[in-house]
Amino acid sequence: MIAVLKQGTTEEQLGNFTEWLRGFGLDVHISKGEFQTVVGLIGDTTRLDADLIGSLSIVEAVRRVSDPFKSANRKFHPDDSIINCSGVMVGGGNFAVIAGPCSVESEDQLTGIARAVKTAGCNMLRGGAFKPRTSPYDFQGLKAEGIELLLKAKKETGLPIVTEIMDAHHLPLFRDVDVIQVGARNMQNFELLKELGKTDKPILLKRGLSSTIKEWLMSAEYIMAGGNENVMLCERGIRTFDSQYTRNCLDLSAVPVLKELTHLPVIIDPSHATGSSKYVKSMALAAVAAGADGLMTEVHSDPIHALCDGAQSLTPEQFADMMKSVSVVRSALREAL
Ligand code: PEP
Ligand code: MN
Repeated sequence: MIAVLKQGTTEEQLGNFTEWLRGFGLDVHISKGEFQTVVGLIGDTTRLDADLIGSLSIVEAVRRVSDPFKSANRKFHPDDSIINCSGVMVGGGNFAVIAGPCSVESEDQLTGIARAVKTAGCNMLRGGAFKPRTSPYDFQGLKAEGIELLLKAKKETGLPIVTEIMDAHHLPLFRDVDVIQVGARNMQNFELLKELGKTDKPILLKRGLSSTIKEWLMSAEYIMAGGNENVMLCERGIRTFDSQYTRNCLDLSAVPVLKELTHLPVIIDPSHATGSSKYVKSMALAAVAAGADGLMTEVHSDPIHALCDGAQSLTPEQFADMMKSVSVVRSALREAL
């Protein structure tokens, strides 16, 4: 249930109202927008009399919200959330590009790529230290050493770093990481999500390979229910019947759907979605046009020798070219809309 408060409601009135609601054993979520304050009630609201709440002098409207995701719901929080990733803002009109190799391989590899993507205008550096690989015989990542190398690259370039966590026991290693990524394969690792909900780190939550939008939002809800509202959603392609020409199927319709359903920023990863560097630029531009809040792309200076995902990695030159086109599409959209 949500209650939209009248303009001019004082802090004291709001405090009394929320205290009264908490008396029913409910969690209260307050969203203060530019023009409106919305109070979201989370928990069993069946005992509440909506008409009684609607009759209060400070309440403009009351609505029951049947969606199972509450904190992530735009009805609870009409304004776009803006996530502060160590100074890089994402959402609410702030567009961010995350780029870097699939895996951190060596200091030279990472710093070389980091410098190149920064020059091309990227805002955050990505790189996997813990790698979820389909085969146990494939490169599993440099683990703690990989995080050290990311921190070095951050120091040198000033770019905040994004890297994937696979096990909550590794959280101490992520202390200085700016954004923690939850990969597609862990989107429904609920124990991991609960632990991340106890942190205050921005979380980049990738969509599961075969997850519905509702399941994805419920996973965001797990993190938010723990108190961490800094969640960004990343669409990275889903499994459909055709994997001959593309690795996955990029669900771009998820962008407008999510914009309607949630206030959380939406990032598109055209690299894992297509699996081929040939198609990354087109899909990146389409994502911008669809209204995404950012992009995440894989970049490697020597894709042929990459230890992971070389086929879908852009060279720094291709990345710079993509960034130029992204900028053209963004300014065209600004003029047109
Ligand atoms: C990645 O970003 O390198 C990755 C493993 O992505 P996903 O979880 O989307 O497969
Ligand atoms: Mn990858």
